[in-house]
Amino acid sequence: MYDIKSLKAEEFISDEEIKATLAYADEHKHDRELIEALLEKARPKKTGRGVECSGLSHREASVLLACDLPEMTEKIYALANEIKEAFYGDRIVMFAPLYLSNYCVNKCVYCPYHVQNKEIPRKKLTQEEVRDEVIALQDMGHKRLAIEAGEDPVNNPIEYILECINTIYSIKHKNGAIRRVNVNIAATTVENYKKLHDAGIGTYILFQETYHKESYEKLHPAGPKHNYAYHTEAMDRAMEGGIDDVGLGVLFGLDLFRYEFAGLLMHAEHLEAVHGVGPHTISVPRVKKASDIDPNVFDNSIDDDTFAKIIACIRIAVPYTGMIISTRENETCREKVMKLGISQISGGSRTSVGGYAGYTPEERPHDTEQFDVSDQRSLDEVVKWLMDMDYIPSFCTACYREGRTGDRFMALCKVGQIQNCCHPNALLTLQEYLQDYASPETKKVGEALIDREIQKVPDPKRREKALDYLNRIRNGERDFRF
Ligand code: SF4
Ligand code: SF4
Repeated sequence: MYDIKSLKAEEFISDEEIKATLAYADEHKHDRELIEALLEKARPKKTGRGVECSGLSHREASVLLACDLPEMTEKIYALANEIKEAFYGDRIVMFAPLYLSNYCVNKCVYCPYHVQNKEIPRKKLTQEEVRDEVIALQDMGHKRLAIEAGEDPVNNPIEYILECINTIYSIKHKNGAIRRVNVNIAATTVENYKKLHDAGIGTYILFQETYHKESYEKLHPAGPKHNYAYHTEAMDRAMEGGIDDVGLGVLFGLDLFRYEFAGLLMHAEHLEAVHGVGPHTISVPRVKKASDIDPNVFDNSIDDDTFAKIIACIRIAVPYTGMIISTRENETCREKVMKLGISQISGGSRTSVGGYAGYTPEERPHDTEQFDVSDQRSLDEVVKWLMDMDYIPSFCTACYREGRTGDRFMALCKVGQIQNCCHPNALLTLQEYLQDYASPETKKVGEALIDREIQKVPDPKRREKALDYLNRIRNGERDFRF
């Protein structure tokens, strides 16, 4: 039985409710009147406090996703773009993954790190190697990392992860610093989540992979991850442990995308209902080729148009949740979906253990890669590419460092402070990047963009202060934020 507030996975992600949702969506997918009303309901509205959006429920959003009327699809895209503009403007937050270890005891059939893959070398970074990787990432200009490790209580115990986080935060190399470490590790206990919280992590990210229990159990035939309930209830434990920024995601291609979409939104609704705060981010990876993995054996793969539609519908349903896309996707696809809702992308990524230090931007070690990287450009190329399309690459980590976590980002949105806060923060952190790491051409394009954009900070006092900070950064000072 469906119960949004239940703490049991099979009740807040009820298979019955998802099936009823899909039937409802099929029944109404050509109901123009209903679809228009849903679009109107979800449209950003000016209130006394700023701009607000109501979002849509999993049932409502599933109708939009099911709708295949071309003119309605155009309207869905236009609304997704409007919401994206209202809350994220042209800013795109940059991050990079850092693989700590590919030891893993699980048997996930879509991942090359599964325990039975004897072809892949196993590697775990020492603290010295973590240091080298972080310096290499800092030298690229990164300020925000997502650390990744397989599940292995012997090789990657929580103490190892905590030690790595500590090492990462402690490294100050030239003007570099990693200011936010997001963590993508296996589902764990409340005690361990408390330890991660105390270590100062940003977002705790855990992909559900698939919400379909039966498929989940087949795709995870053995190991601790086999336990569907333990995995699905992990975010509740994380929140109980004090982490209030959590990141959801499914691996599209494993099961039917409409089922996953409804499950994902139900999970978001559950977190909001129980903890008063929805997910901080949603990631949308698709199954990719890798060692011992052929994506063609998964017959639920989705094409680029469907992928774009999913992203647009998520944007409309949960307007305040950041959306992340990785270098699994190529340049063309990334360009398309940024308009529809993506607010965070990785750049210059290596998806192997120890893939950064000691390699030139052109060299790419493949031996321990978790998946094939489609977008292989350097961070500088990605930054320039974004700016050429009038996006503002942002290295901002201000909220986390000011203690604005959980529902406080939403509060920032609702009081209409985004243009006075995120916008100047993006420009100031971009200036730091340009000053310390960019190529001359990227720097030229970026400084012209900053000079133009800083004039758009609405509050005159804030604008004046932002200009003062900007000049100080250009004269060598660092780390200002609102
Ligand atoms: S997806 Fe994660 S848990 Fe599964 S095999 Fe890969 S690294 Fe291990
Ligand atoms: S100010 Fe906060 S919400 Fe805005 S970009 Fe920075 S970290 Fe994100």
